[in-house]
Amino acid sequence: MFWRSTDGKDKRNGSTSPATAQSANGELSSAPSFGAPYIVRPVINGVGHAPNLDEPKPVSARVITSPIDVWLKGLHDKYRGSDHGHLANYIPELANADPEHFGIVLAAADGKSYAAGHSEVLFTIQSISKPLVYGLALEDHGPEAVLRRVGVEPTGEAFNSIVMDEVNNRPFNPMVNAGAIATTALIRGNGVEERFKRILDMFSRYAGRQLAVDESVFASEQATGHRNRAIAYLQLNSGMIEEPVAEHLELYFRQCAILVSARDLAMMAATLANNGVNPLTGQQAIAAEHVKTVLSVMASCGMYDYSGEWVYRVGLPAKSGVGGGIFAVLPGQFGVGTFSPLLDDHGNSHRGIEVCKELSQRFHLHVYDMHFVADNIVRRSYRGDGVTSKRQRGVRERKVLDACGHRIVAYELQGGLYFATAEQLVRRIVDDAPQSAYILLDGRRISRADQSALMLLRDLNLTLQEEGKILVLADLPAQMQTDWLALNKGVGEDLCFADVDSALEFCENRIVLETDPEAMGKGVSLALAEMDILRTFSPEDIAKLAPYIATSSYEAGARIIREGDPADRLYLLASGTASVNTVLDDGKRQARLAAFRPGVAFGEFALFDGGRRVANVVAETASVCYVLDFGNLERLEATEPAIYRRLLFALGRLLTDRLRRVTAEVRALT
Ligand code: GLU
Repeated sequence: MFWRSTDGKDKRNGSTSPATAQSANGELSSAPSFGAPYIVRPVINGVGHAPNLDEPKPVSARVITSPIDVWLKGLHDKYRGSDHGHLANYIPELANADPEHFGIVLAAADGKSYAAGHSEVLFTIQSISKPLVYGLALEDHGPEAVLRRVGVEPTGEAFNSIVMDEVNNRPFNPMVNAGAIATTALIRGNGVEERFKRILDMFSRYAGRQLAVDESVFASEQATGHRNRAIAYLQLNSGMIEEPVAEHLELYFRQCAILVSARDLAMMAATLANNGVNPLTGQQAIAAEHVKTVLSVMASCGMYDYSGEWVYRVGLPAKSGVGGGIFAVLPGQFGVGTFSPLLDDHGNSHRGIEVCKELSQRFHLHVYDMHFVADNIVRRSYRGDGVTSKRQRGVRERKVLDACGHRIVAYELQGGLYFATAEQLVRRIVDDAPQSAYILLDGRRISRADQSALMLLRDLNLTLQEEGKILVLADLPAQMQTDWLALNKGVGEDLCFADVDSALEFCENRIVLETDPEAMGKGVSLALAEMDILRTFSPEDIAKLAPYIATSSYEAGARIIREGDPADRLYLLASGTASVNTVLDDGKRQARLAAFRPGVAFGEFALFDGGRRVANVVAETASVCYVLDFGNLERLEATEPAIYRRLLFALGRLLTDRLRRVTAEVRALT
């Protein structure tokens, strides 16, 4: 044979182990070898220029500093010397704080943190406890019941003012002392110890470590907190709270005396940014459904009577405490914790406010500073006549799919699915629907999908079904698939596929079955004459060829071709189905390179270049193959040269056909 020596050696250089490349049907093919390794040299400005690959530039092993660390340190240096403000002294113990202490920590919603200054110094959380305890009250009673007891209107008054919403007979909001005491009064539990344990455990889940109480600060406030006591008894008098008031107050003073660091505050804020889950421990500190309510009251009432200007200048939900802490949240992105006990006239940490202002301005963190618009959710789309599944089709199936494949429309999605991007997608599907019967969503590049997007798609799914159209989903992120299946019970939950190829094949099979039910020849064993490449052979030709062909049967799951075996035979699938799979780079996911139906030839590259198989071909169902090995092929060449030539020609046609299809696919995808 002119293309291959019978001993498997490449005639050009006599090598028995030629460089190899993998073909789409799992064959090994030999790449041309020209003696020396072939290096592609980049051409710059038309002049050949190659990097010296023998002596690569040494890599600097020095650790480099993140610009975020550099920036935080700069900010810390800038305000470290400031002596604006005063220490809180109405709780005597707080006057002992060190005015030099100053720490800043930024924690991403995935838990990575950046710190400058006194990030680990402990101080009492004070009013920053208020939104967290409010979250626990929401969990204990639900938002509506809590709202009946504590309002959500800013007061514009100092944190300890004695003003109540008399119309509704409740304190104005949970961020002022009156509202916070009423909120703490709502915390369930048997006695002060059990109730406090619930609070402390929750705070610890937020911080990701076990927290404790500063007993001297607690005792100090318990002994002197007469104003808070007055507020509580006033509320008791008006029926805003119930007994035991002394216990509620003790609980409130204790929650304010929990010790935290700037790092703890940043982690607590990052936990809120991460839908209530501490990103480092994975523990749920607060049910995700209540996070937005907590952030809302922080945004409107979190910074005492500076709250309006805070939203105006910084634009982040935040809370400060008279211990000198501030925490602020950028939902979905990160949290900030600062500590400096010098307070301004509103009771906010002076340095903390300055740091947050600069941080927000420098990085455009104001929640209303939405300088990006919704991304394009559809990366590209194609129809099933341009891109086909890897299933090699018989002639009849191919005919159906050539004519009707365009009824499949596939959308490759990317990024996040939320209301605005789901609207884009729904609009595209609706516009394309008159030409589509099968709508395939490729979710491989989707990062996340929120509930509103899934509901919109579910409603669309129902409408499509009414119109007899089928929505098929492939390769969804695990959480999205779970949510989708839960939402679509009874409306096509079986239409989620692990990969796009299987989804595409499913749509194609449906179209073939609807159009020409016999084309797939299910369960039928085809005769040699019915093999696609032998369709032009006369009965006499087939009779001459038949003695050179063997028949092999395979159980479902059996390997027909084994990776590494010599590629020395051609297979024609008589019955059953088979596929070529390869394990992807991640070592876990499999990709189907090709799949075969009865009538189809595979392993044909071997006839032209020899070598070894580079992938397994597995029988998906019990299968039978006609097999032509090289020994017989050579005998055929010697005894039936005309049949031999016809066979080569048919194989050539098969290859050009496949190449054409690949070209069409590349065009459809670019
Ligand atoms: N325990 C303090 C109080 O009730 C908290 C005040 C605050 O941090 O705003 O007075």
